[in-house]
Amino acid sequence: MLLTITSTTKPATDLGYLLHKHPERVHTTRLPFGDAIVFYPEATDARCTAALLLDVNPVDLSRARKGSPHGAPLQPYVNSRPYIASSFMSVAISRTLKTALNGRCDSHPDLAEARLPYEATVAAVQCVGGSDLLRRLFEPLGYEVSAHEQLLDERFPEWGVSPIIGVTLQGTVRLSELLTHLYVLIPVLDGQKHYWVGDAEVEKLIRYGENWLAGHPERELIAKRYLKHRRSLETAALEQLLVDEAAPESLEEPPEETAPDTEERLGLNEQRVIAITEELRSRAAGTVVDLGCGDGKLLRALLGERQFTKILGMDVSTRSLEFAADRLHFRDLPPMQRERIDLIQGSLTYRDERLSGFDAGVVAEVIEHLDAGRLAALERVVFEFAGPRLVVVTTPNIEYNQVFGMEDGVLRHKDHRFEWTREQFEGWASGVASAHGYTVEFKPIGPIDQSHGAPTQMAVFSR
Ligand code: SAH
Repeated sequence: MLLTITSTTKPATDLGYLLHKHPERVHTTRLPFGDAIVFYPEATDARCTAALLLDVNPVDLSRARKGSPHGAPLQPYVNSRPYIASSFMSVAISRTLKTALNGRCDSHPDLAEARLPYEATVAAVQCVGGSDLLRRLFEPLGYEVSAHEQLLDERFPEWGVSPIIGVTLQGTVRLSELLTHLYVLIPVLDGQKHYWVGDAEVEKLIRYGENWLAGHPERELIAKRYLKHRRSLETAALEQLLVDEAAPESLEEPPEETAPDTEERLGLNEQRVIAITEELRSRAAGTVVDLGCGDGKLLRALLGERQFTKILGMDVSTRSLEFAADRLHFRDLPPMQRERIDLIQGSLTYRDERLSGFDAGVVAEVIEHLDAGRLAALERVVFEFAGPRLVVVTTPNIEYNQVFGMEDGVLRHKDHRFEWTREQFEGWASGVASAHGYTVEFKPIGPIDQSHGAPTQMAVFSR
């Protein structure tokens, strides 16, 4: 897969500052499904082109997923994924050009703000709907669109043109706008997204579409395809867009609390949010307290679902609570939403009346931050004093660290006091369950490795 971006604004090599990638170097980022390589095939004062080459390795890809959903036995290894730009390209954009995607350039802030002429070429997109769809998506955003269509086979013109099209966009935009449009619309062209679609996807669509999607004539098609025809998610996305229009944007990058590189590559944060939300939903929890809520990713997903009528986020860190408040647009929530959610500061190691009376409690990626004595206090606070009928606890599975290629004894985050094997976690959870009158079930989160299990382990306690 190849994406190129060309600037002709002198000195054109300033593109290197904007992309945070030096034009004289080759920058390689390892992703779970292959390598993303940024390099500059031309870098002169008059014209500078950055290329993002995504070298998808179908073998890595089939490993990073839970096996092939359907198709012929070789299909996971021999397919068009390496060549045709898809949601993998979006992942590569967000992983390698994240700062530019977010419109930040500390060394040249004026350049990041400026609308300049750019040309972007995507070598091959699978355009379900033909070049007409390309125009309907990109022209309203101010681009001149050229589509390079080809016959499927020159010897058989009657077979018609290939749905795989090369596309060039020319427009005078901010670089972050160009990247954002590509980030959202490449998977839309493709018509299928290859990674999980869940509430976190709604959030991404809102976040990256906020300045342009609400006014785009094809916004419904975009939301529909982006979210892969999931009606409820789609409605939630459109509703939130309308709400968010009124809210000033203050979404900063969340603090790097528990997302080391390796976890982030698998999209584990998102998968956890999806798995936990699903658990709460299927067990009909209406009121939820998120204990150690961090920067509020789960809270945001819960707020998007009407089933959750009362949501409380608690954390010991005021900084995390501030990030959560930003993520939720907390101060600008419409009154109906504002009544459903609250954020409080507190510690899970002290008995706290405010935590009582909820259907469910979530303790996601928190226990490993506590040392043994405090963990015992947390057990009493959560299971004895707060005592909701449902408690969901997640924690890393240390066995999986080997799959991440980490050395023995190294933990995923410097603040982790421990990480447990599946046996250790299940032993602890079973003890807690029987001491406090709960039953407990265990579920893996993330891709499962045959001998090491999944990267995250979840215990679901109920009574
Ligand atoms: N649940 C979130 C955040 C996990 S990071 C998520 O899954 O993304 C761990 C969080 O636990 C941090 O925000 C940290 O501030 C919080 N934390 C650590 N010790 C705590 C304690 N004793 N009481 C409450 N929160 C605590």
